[in-house]
Amino acid sequence: MQSEEKKWDCIIIGGGIAGLTTSIYLARSGKSVLILEKSKTLGGRGRTTKKMDSYLNLGPHALYSNGKSLEILRELGIEIDGGIVPTKGKIVYKNELYDIPATPISLITSPLLNWKAKKELFTFFSTYKKIDTNKIHQIPLQQWLQHKIKDEVVRHLILMISRLSTYSNEPDLLSAGAALKQLQLGNAIYLNNGWQSMIDSLINVATGLGVQYRTGQNVKSVNGSYPQVTVHTNKEEFHSRTVLSTSSPHETAKMFSMLENNPEMDIKEYIPVRVACLDLILSRLPNPEIHFALGLEEPFYFSNHSNIAKLSDKNYQVIHVMKYINAKDDTERELEGFIEKIQPGWKKFVVYKRYLPRMTVSNSLVLANQNERPSPLVKHLPGVYIAGDWVGDEMLVEASFQSARNAAQLILETLH
Ligand SMILES: Cc1cc2nc3c(=O)[nH]c(=O)nc-3n(C[C@H](O)[C@H](O)[C@H](O)COP(=O)(O)OP(=O)(O)OC[C@H]3O[C@@H](n4cnc5c(N)ncnc54)[C@H](O)[C@@H]3O)c2cc1C
Repeated sequence: MQSEEKKWDCIIIGGGIAGLTTSIYLARSGKSVLILEKSKTLGGRGRTTKKMDSYLNLGPHALYSNGKSLEILRELGIEIDGGIVPTKGKIVYKNELYDIPATPISLITSPLLNWKAKKELFTFFSTYKKIDTNKIHQIPLQQWLQHKIKDEVVRHLILMISRLSTYSNEPDLLSAGAALKQLQLGNAIYLNNGWQSMIDSLINVATGLGVQYRTGQNVKSVNGSYPQVTVHTNKEEFHSRTVLSTSSPHETAKMFSMLENNPEMDIKEYIPVRVACLDLILSRLPNPEIHFALGLEEPFYFSNHSNIAKLSDKNYQVIHVMKYINAKDDTERELEGFIEKIQPGWKKFVVYKRYLPRMTVSNSLVLANQNERPSPLVKHLPGVYIAGDWVGDEMLVEASFQSARNAAQLILETLH
């Protein structure tokens, strides 16, 4: 096996959002950084595919207007370009379509709710932003709703919007605090040309600062600790003072065999959040009035992302349909049935279709019964750090961005 002579200040395993973000903070402080990525391209789950002159994320992707992700991107000198998704659309309930009661008029006129329920939902909408989420972190969402909300339809509505913001359909396990914190992140933002525009900006800034990367390098194992770390890939051997893994908890534990018996890395605790996605490009919408819809009792999602962001050079409609799945679901036909209720006859207009049956949205659900999530600093292994959507107290890409920034600070303290 070939061994590269150079000794890097930090080797980063994985060139997704977390890896790229850390690399920029380190390179800005003058550190030498090498990213090792097993795929052919950088970007991880944030990549966008170009098909039929249109941009398809890997399933529906949004940033949030009040999230730290935007703050971090600004710190890195990156401005994003896209559109804010309004809180308006349809609910699919027992094969009928209703307005989402999220605006005063749609709430007052909603046939789904009686007056008491309308008042209860109005109270929830006007108070949830002020809830101290730390105080309810250890209560499962279902239990919290059962205790706080009397009306069953209102409970279903809150579960529906919490699925939307957390991507999770496990209310008995999900922390109520984590779910509400995610809701407090504000409106969704869809990016023009997809998340690839953000990935490309991260790559440009990183390489402009001298960050090096190698693709097709699958890291198999890591030995040593600060200041002598050796990283073995399927092809080569690399040397560094510190190392950051942004891979999944399972793969990270395998690479660092010492971590496997470390209670901090108890991988039984990590329950992935998964979805089934149908990504579509249509020449037109059979029903051009509807751009967004959610199932009330069934965990389905439909959104025309091209109604908000610029996603097609041909004026095609870029649609994401999704089911929030539990472990055993298999769902392509169900998703096609769901879109038929909203856009009857849509199949005639398909220009491109992609089905992704089991996408990992997050490597770890934020559990109500979990005392602490891992931090970027791996105790007992000097010079070894972790980042990604399973590290820190946040969720989804918020966790990736924030753990990446925290990891960079810790690595800089080690390197001085
Ligand atoms: C369908 C779907 C919808 C989503 N929607 C949203 C959303 O709306 N909002 C939101 O906030 N988040 C969303 N997410 C989550 C978001 O995409 C992720 O949180 C984020 O992209 C994760 O970035 P990361 O860098 O932490 O991990 P990844 O993107 O997984 O990057 C890790 C990288 O490491 C590489 N790697 C792994 N193991 C090795 C190894 N052994 N050697 C070398 N390289 C390795 C991988 O190939 C990958 O490129 C969604 C995810 C999915 C799948």
